[in-house]
Amino acid sequence: MTAKILDGKKLASQSEEEIKTEVSELVSKGINPTLATILVGNDPASETYVRMKRNTCKKVGMESIAVELPESTTTDDLLATINDLNNNPNVHGILLQHPVPSQIDERKCFDAIDIEKDVDGVTCLGFGNMSMGIDAYGSCTPAGIIRLIKHYELEVQGLNAVVVGRSPILGKPMAMMLLNLNATVTICHSRTQNIETIIKNADLIVGAVGIPKFIKTDWIKHGAIVIDAGFHPEKCGDIDLERMDEISSAYTPVPGGVGPMTINTLILHTMQSAKKLLTN
Ligand code: NAP
Repeated sequence: MTAKILDGKKLASQSEEEIKTEVSELVSKGINPTLATILVGNDPASETYVRMKRNTCKKVGMESIAVELPESTTTDDLLATINDLNNNPNVHGILLQHPVPSQIDERKCFDAIDIEKDVDGVTCLGFGNMSMGIDAYGSCTPAGIIRLIKHYELEVQGLNAVVVGRSPILGKPMAMMLLNLNATVTICHSRTQNIETIIKNADLIVGAVGIPKFIKTDWIKHGAIVIDAGFHPEKCGDIDLERMDEISSAYTPVPGGVGPMTINTLILHTMQSAKKLLTN
């Protein structure tokens, strides 16, 4: 079996070209799609992620506003910043970079983001709407994975899908999105027993566990669809992708699979949010 490679890098770059065209049409109609990024503190990884997001905005001709707050920021300070951005008609999407310093009530701050500007899909309301099949911007990593699945026309209906990880930004929304596509979904987490047996029965596996090569090659059923959301400094993901070419029917490489789709989806959602102004 030669597996399909789910090439996120290629799809993201095609999508960037399309977004660029749409952005320039919006600009010609007087709308400048704008993403506001909020970075609290000095975490180097978060600084890098925010910079990458802002660079991608620039690449497609979109504006970004960078809000940088000190490590000592309180929940009330951050809520006030979010409130200002909610009320700013020139801002179409708000990204609050996770994680924030521990003294801040992150959930409260995420939920303060206006649902219309929740382009990163972090609010409880957005999650609830998405789960119920009501229009909402899904969390960007799982939404990017679904875009890849659809682009490569993979049939998910009826499959035994196993999501390993249940974080609010990845595992949980991923499971709901797959359920909405009529997969039969199992969610595994740190207290799951017999994880190997569960994965061995999966037709579709999503690795979202945060441990390098946690899911072993010989746990993967022949013909399964393999999605690896992980990315680690040693340039591997959460799944040991060795021989995936022969074993799986389709898989996301690391790097170049899920990763590029995340930022692209954020930018896409921001453009879509700005575009809604034409119809409102
Ligand atoms: P996270 O918040 O740390 O969540 C990890 C999840 O894995 C938790 O639900 C945890 O279970 C579960 N887990 C931990 N150890 C386990 C074990 N031994 N057996 C089974 N489950 C276990 O991580 P995350 O933010 O969801 O990220 C997951 C991965 O995706 C990471 O590799 C991260 O780098 C990657 N990621 C990539 C992108 C991207 O843009 N490509 C974006 C976000 C994340 P409990 O809930 O029981 O603790």
